[in-house]
Amino acid sequence: MLSLGMDIGSTTSKCVLMNGERQLLAMALVVAGIGTQGPEQAAAQLLENAQTRWEDIDVITATGYGRLRYERAQHQVSELTCHALGTSWLFPQARTVIDIGGQDVKILSLGPEGRLLNFVMNDKCAAGTGRFLDVMANILQLRIDDLGPCAMQAERAAVISSTCTVFAESEVISQLAAGVARNEVIAGICESVAAKTASLAKRLPIRADVVMSGGVARNEGVRRCLEKHLEMPILHAPQAQYTGALGAALYGLKAAG
Ligand code: ADP
Repeated sequence: MLSLGMDIGSTTSKCVLMNGERQLLAMALVVAGIGTQGPEQAAAQLLENAQTRWEDIDVITATGYGRLRYERAQHQVSELTCHALGTSWLFPQARTVIDIGGQDVKILSLGPEGRLLNFVMNDKCAAGTGRFLDVMANILQLRIDDLGPCAMQAERAAVISSTCTVFAESEVISQLAAGVARNEVIAGICESVAAKTASLAKRLPIRADVVMSGGVARNEGVRRCLEKHLEMPILHAPQAQYTGALGAALYGLKAAG
């Protein structure tokens, strides 16, 4: 049995392949999301990584914003269900999931075996999401994966008070012009995302273990600031950005019986 899980996000397409024993066989990611060739490119890469062909795949499940437009999928499943399933496969003891993706933030409260008990989501605004970090990385002419390490080198974080991405962008530029150290500005950017996420998360009871999923989980600066706000350790897996795709593959296995 081979199950392919495809997560078509706002910025990135992620896919994974699992076997009937729920073992992860291969993963692939392309930074191109809904409305692009990203899903097809990610799937082609996945098949190559796994040395397999479309004919060998038994079940295909899609999740993410683009899930309804993915014609290869037999199942389309919500991101909430998939992040719950994927997280509990990675961390069976997880009770809170903080998922920060390219466009939205979701906090999930889980019961045993990844049962979804409750959730909250951000409003439709880029602040506090991966999009905010992408815009800031662009201004600073850095790669997205440089933000976390730079923030970790700062002794203090500059205060970014604007809650709107557009205003925060001018604030960052003004701070740089005023001579604030670049790493301190970056630490302030990470802190701004963490503070927004923490205030959303506090609408739910935060129960350990707390796990971060989504692409922003790869940013150590945001993770550390969030731990301070929540006063709890935050777990994350190297496959954090694939959590939705993992959940989709797991759903497919279950559906196929
Ligand atoms: P979506 O599903 O909406 O496309 P993802 O969960 O894939 O979102 O997360 C995408 C976000 O993750 C990007 O907007 C970016 O800010 C962040 N990101 C991606 N790669 C990295 C990385 N290597 N280091 C830090 N952050 C990253």
